[in-house]
Amino acid sequence: MKIDTSGVQNFIDEGAIWDIVNKNSVADPGRVREILDKALELKGLSLAEAACLLQAEDPDMNQEIASAARKVKKAIYGNRVVLFAPLYITNECGNRCAYCGFKDTNTELVRRTLTPEELRREVGVLEDLGHKRLLLVYGEHPKFGADWIAETVRTVYETVSEKSGEIRRVNINCAPLDVEGFRKLHEVGIGTYQCFQETYHSETYSRLHTKGRKSDYLWRLHAMHRAMEAGIDDVGMGALLGLYDYRFDILALLAHAAELEKAFGVGPHTLSFPRLEPALNSEIAFNPPYPITDTQFKRLVAVLRLAVPFTGLILSTREGREMRRELLDIGVSQISAGSRTYPGAYTDPNYDRPDVQQFCVGDNRSLDEVVREIVRQGYIPSWCTACYRLGRTGEEFMKLAKNGFIQDFCRPNALLTFSEYLQDYASAETRGIAVPFVLEEAQAGPEKGRKTLMDRLTRIERGERDLYF
Ligand code: SAM
Ligand code: SF4
Repeated sequence: MKIDTSGVQNFIDEGAIWDIVNKNSVADPGRVREILDKALELKGLSLAEAACLLQAEDPDMNQEIASAARKVKKAIYGNRVVLFAPLYITNECGNRCAYCGFKDTNTELVRRTLTPEELRREVGVLEDLGHKRLLLVYGEHPKFGADWIAETVRTVYETVSEKSGEIRRVNINCAPLDVEGFRKLHEVGIGTYQCFQETYHSETYSRLHTKGRKSDYLWRLHAMHRAMEAGIDDVGMGALLGLYDYRFDILALLAHAAELEKAFGVGPHTLSFPRLEPALNSEIAFNPPYPITDTQFKRLVAVLRLAVPFTGLILSTREGREMRRELLDIGVSQISAGSRTYPGAYTDPNYDRPDVQQFCVGDNRSLDEVVREIVRQGYIPSWCTACYRLGRTGEEFMKLAKNGFIQDFCRPNALLTFSEYLQDYASAETRGIAVPFVLEEAQAGPEKGRKTLMDRLTRIERGERDLYF
């Protein structure tokens, strides 16, 4: 079905964005500090301010930017980090994205779409590891429409493992749909709809997406507008870094966020900023045309944290252990763990198969190992899904977030879900480190609500589950 996007406006003004980049290319220390002072008031940044910080090359300035981002992160999110796993449903794809292992010309890739039974088995494995939040990932193929995607979501929610768990929030990363299609996903209860523009530079976009629905830049650019129109008010946006100049793409991503806020009163729930990873038969994925250094990458994450302080920042296992550790302090609020990037991977006894996966992961550790390290770093892993289940989403969530809600509600909920994890899934080693940590954290929290929290932790120890504020 060809949908006409000709009446749709391109709200990314490329000339204006380049103008902002160029006019703010000198990051004078006085101006940087002025911008950081404003950012510390949690008021976000203008595009010009973000452009200035993005181009602050001086190492001392970089430290000051990172330190401000750390403060903002701590003030809003405390020491809590949300965990999830991606679950690949299909690697069949009719598009030709130059950087992706799933592109249609990759004849070496073994194509697979999970049957409902296979999907249930994958979900069962993830549940038995302790996951409660999944991100379902799909190639884009004409044979898979909104009804089929909705059915896979239903299957995931209905799968309850014999051992214990259930998935409490299903997020989706699939190709953009029309409003009616998004409505079907909303009705079946998806959490966040996630879709990355890849690059906002239209000429580069056209060159890298030469076939299929995805070759239409504007169709993709308006995906979030359609999703929101369909009632999905938690949307996740992103740019794939390495395809074009990151300064342009990060500013365009912020402009996109501002555009949504203008149109719907709320911006994106989350932002992602994946860097290109090697992928089978993709020259560009091995040799990104605009490679980003680790220093630039850390700086851009810090700038995003300062620019949109109340928006979640997601980091995947594309990045390695050390980078993930550092970015958690600087601004990231959600990470995936124990990820595998092909359909059927979690039940595959011969795991690690470049002939089926989308790209190589940089952090291969299990969920339990990641959890242990997070706790050693002083963070509370969280599988909380309370807001989504109580309807605290979109504008409602942002209003609450701006009023200190995250510390009052998300923190105790993180401790409750972590305590469940420790009871049901953690290794003895993780439990040994984390059980005393949970108690210390519960005692260290605000006095208001502490008794209720302690009561609930005891109830979880006695076998009750799914308690939240
Ligand atoms: N097919 C859907 C789409 O393209 O929107 C969703 C699934 S696609 C597998 C999810 C994301 O993976 C893409 O939006 C892209 O940003 C990312 N991706 C593709 N190839 C990659 C690579 N080589 N390295 C890192 N990320 C990649
Ligand atoms: Fe297909 Fe998405 Fe990969 Fe493009 S990025 S080839 S649409 S799976």
